[in-house]
Order: sequence, then C-alpha cells, then structure tokens
Amino acid sequence: MQLTGKTAIVTGSTSGIGLGIARGLAQAGANVVLNSFTNSDTDHALAQSLATEFNVSVSYVQADMSNAEQCRALIDGQEHCDILVNNAGIQHVAPIDEFPIDKWNAIIAINLSSAFHTTAAALPKMRAAGWGRIVNISSAHGLTASPFKSAYVAAKHGIVGLTKTTALETAEQPITCNAICPGYVLTPLVEAQIPDTMTKYNMTRDDVIKKVMLERQPSREFATVEQLGGTCVFLCSVAAAQITGTTLSVDGGWTAL
Ligand code: NAD
Repeated sequence: MQLTGKTAIVTGSTSGIGLGIARGLAQAGANVVLNSFTNSDTDHALAQSLATEFNVSVSYVQADMSNAEQCRALIDGQEHCDILVNNAGIQHVAPIDEFPIDKWNAIIAINLSSAFHTTAAALPKMRAAGWGRIVNISSAHGLTASPFKSAYVAAKHGIVGLTKTTALETAEQPITCNAICPGYVLTPLVEAQIPDTMTKYNMTRDDVIKKVMLERQPSREFATVEQLGGTCVFLCSVAAAQITGTTLSVDGGWTAL
C-alpha cells in the first residue's frame, strides 16, 4: 500500500474530520498516532479498533493543542513523523465587541498556534527521514469570512499563511505542506451549532441545514469525513509531490461563488 511504513500524526483525531483522515491514512497503510486533550479508555480503545480494522500500528497520545509545550511533546515523543495533519480545532460564534477574550485566545492557540509548534517539531524529523507531508486543515473560512466568527476566520486565514511559509522553507526538500479547506462537514463541531441557530432564526433542524448552513455551499450537500480522508491521502501520494504551498477546497463550490 502507498503509505506503508510511514508514521502519521493527526491532531484532534478522536472525532469528526481528524478521525476520518486518520482512518483514510490507516487504510492507505500508514501507522497512525491519534490525539486529543482527553485520556480516557475510549480514546485508547479507538486506537485499538483502528489498528485491528486496518492492520497497522495505531496509538493514542494525550496532548492539549492549546499548550505549546504539549504540542511539541506530541511530536517529540514519536520516533518518526512522516505525515503531520494539523486538524485540532474549536469554534465560538459571537460579534467582535462581545467576543470573550478567553475564547479568542483558545481559538488562536488551538486552530493556529498549535500548527506552528507541531510543524517546528516535525520538520527536523522529516528532513532526517528525507520525506515529509504536512497537511493543515483550514476551512472555506480560511479563504472567505462570515460574520460572528472573527477568531475562527482569523485563525483559518492564518493557517493558510503558515502553510505557504512552510512550503517555501521546505521547497527544495522532499517535503510538502498544503492546506485543505473544507466547506461544511456534518461533524460534532457543526452539530453543536445547530440548536443555537434553530433558536436564533426560529427554524427547524432541516431548515437550518438547508437554508443557513448549506446556503453558501452550492452543492447543497455536506462534504464527508471520508472525502477529506481521501483528499489527505492524495496529498501524501506520489502524484502530489509537486503540490506545495497551496489550498485545496472541498466545499461543494462555496469559494467559486
Ligand atoms: P470535531 O469537534 O468533531 O473534532 C475536533 C477534534 O479536535 C476532536 O477530536 C477534539 O477532541 C479535538 N480537540 C479539540 N480541542 C483540542 C485540544 N485543545 N487539544 C487537542 N485536541 C483537541 O470537529 P471537526 O468538525 O472534525 O473539525 C476538525 C477540523 O476541521 C477543525 O480544525 C475545524 O476547524 C475544521 N473544519 C471543520 C469543518 C466542518 O464543517 N466540520 C469545516 C471546515 C473546517
């Protein structure tokens, strides 16, 4: 299989897109390190179940991506880091003048600064191995904005900038760095936004999905975590060796509007 023998570290991978990507990479033969900030039996059982399903080595490492030292320790604790997927992310929605400072700081730390720290720790390992792939999970909100998502939009635009800089600093090495920009994907992060939006607009769940969330997604369909897993595997493939420093939208046409 194309990624056999490679070690992939995926931040924030116990649910949603991160888990979909971890599963895609494991299916392609990579050994995978799962991560989140918790340390429960369920986390370790998830790693075990992926290992069994895909016949690769899978471990779970607790590390809080809001903490610089823990970000670096996640990478430093592994002998290899051939593929780094910076996926951990959170959301908070509020007007700028009411946006809680602690939420702003947490979003910038988890959605942006963590990728700087993990990348800094991973690059020496990739250079020593003579191969590396960094995939940053940005968003359609890394290319466009929405009201009330100031911290998220700032972090997601920021990660596109970090992606370009990382690509330039590694351009003459067999290392690439790209950002995937998903539109709406029905994950726990998005699910959590539905009840508030239902209340705010006095709408049914179906109306919130079709008329609010997918209003900007011309396909009127959610992207799936499996599609994002496939996109990530593609960016790790031989065909993608000259793709670096760019964004790849998986957004049903959102950014074509
Ligand atoms: P999710 O809530 O389902 O998963 C987020 C993961 O990050 C979880 O595993 C969670 O445990 C982990 N996480 C949260 N805080 C953490 C921390 N401090 N340290 C370590 N791990 C932490 O969310 P998702 O929808 O799968 O989002 C994953 C990424 O994709 C995020 O960066 C998000 O911004 C991005 N994204 C999501 C969508 C979408 O529609 N769902 C669209 C575009 C981009």
